[in-house]
Amino acid sequence: MPFTGLVTELATLEARGLKRHRRVLESPQGTRVVVDGRQFLTFCSNDYLGLAGDARLAAAAGEGAARYGVGAGASHLILGHATAHHALEAALAQFVSLPRALLFSTGYMANLGIVTALAGREDAVFADKLNHASLNDAVLLSRAAFKRYAHGDLAALEKLLAASAARRKLVVTDAVFSMDGDIAPVPALLRLCERYDAWLVLDDAHGFGVLGATGAGVLQHYGIASERIVYMATLGKAAGVFGAFVAGESDLIEMLVQRARPYIYTTAMPPLLAHALLASLEIIAAETWRRELLAQLIARLKRDVAGLRWRLLPSDTAIQPLVIGANDEAVRVSEQLARRGLLVPAIRPPTVPPGSARLRISLSAAHREQDVAQLVEALLEVEKNS
Ligand SMILES: *Cc1c(COP(=O)(O)O)cnc(C)c1O
Repeated sequence: MPFTGLVTELATLEARGLKRHRRVLESPQGTRVVVDGRQFLTFCSNDYLGLAGDARLAAAAGEGAARYGVGAGASHLILGHATAHHALEAALAQFVSLPRALLFSTGYMANLGIVTALAGREDAVFADKLNHASLNDAVLLSRAAFKRYAHGDLAALEKLLAASAARRKLVVTDAVFSMDGDIAPVPALLRLCERYDAWLVLDDAHGFGVLGATGAGVLQHYGIASERIVYMATLGKAAGVFGAFVAGESDLIEMLVQRARPYIYTTAMPPLLAHALLASLEIIAAETWRRELLAQLIARLKRDVAGLRWRLLPSDTAIQPLVIGANDEAVRVSEQLARRGLLVPAIRPPTVPPGSARLRISLSAAHREQDVAQLVEALLEVEKNS
């Protein structure tokens, strides 16, 4: 019995209420889904613009399959880099107003690629404590000195930067924090990077498509540009498809082509997805009503939950965390909502700090005002009965 140790570990997870279970989705992703033959209204996805199930993107993917086949068949550096990938990189660079962009198969890999290609043993990486796990894993893999600062604490970051004698300094941060929904103070971070000659790596997984007038993301939101910025965003969230990209100065991107191992040693994303993403980019820029509707829904939710005992964290993005506190209570509230036909995930430590278990409510342009009203009504009922 080679796995008896694992059996014990799994039993411990189960006993502590920490064992994770997957729901099987029987319909396309969206605000209305079918799970176990039952329909639910959902507030779970990162599909902020409601594009994951868009018929135009499905049609573009089909067209891409007809033109390129299904699989890329090779890595980008061998013979997997198709016309669609190349065109998408050019379109992405133009969309975010940076000189050059490089596609990665996933955001996780893009983050590993950026940090390991740019930092090594002699370097230091400065990271917000609430950064995404992929950024943390990237720093560990790079072997650079890992300096973490309390969430948003610029004074603490400055102290760390001032004390560092590292050859190269990278400040890495989520642009929109994935479990809190707040936007990083990018202009202030950039000023610190200028003062201490550091580079600024921004992970805009939750800002791309959503922030800024045309959805170009956090840089457009703040109206800033700098040669120090290494911009990364994912294409499986608001863009509704799959994949990720890094954008920045031309030499920086060329160095990633040469050195980023998660770029070099992996199969290119299926070109049909790059083809679908070209269509997605056009929709993101053109259909500003999606961002406007999302903003209305966010305002509505904030207004309507004011009567609850539980409080939303201060966030202006589609990620609206309702802090419950205790782990078991957060799980219970989530389960009671599910009984009422609403799916809202409970997020517990270690994903969030102890004592701050929460419902991570995520809104989408595919929601309607009535959906938010229904959620708040259900929350009021659950609160009354708890
Ligand atoms: C989702 C996410 C990633 C990973 O992107 P994938 O394309 O899903 O691998 C990286 N960073 C942040 C902040 C994310 O939310």
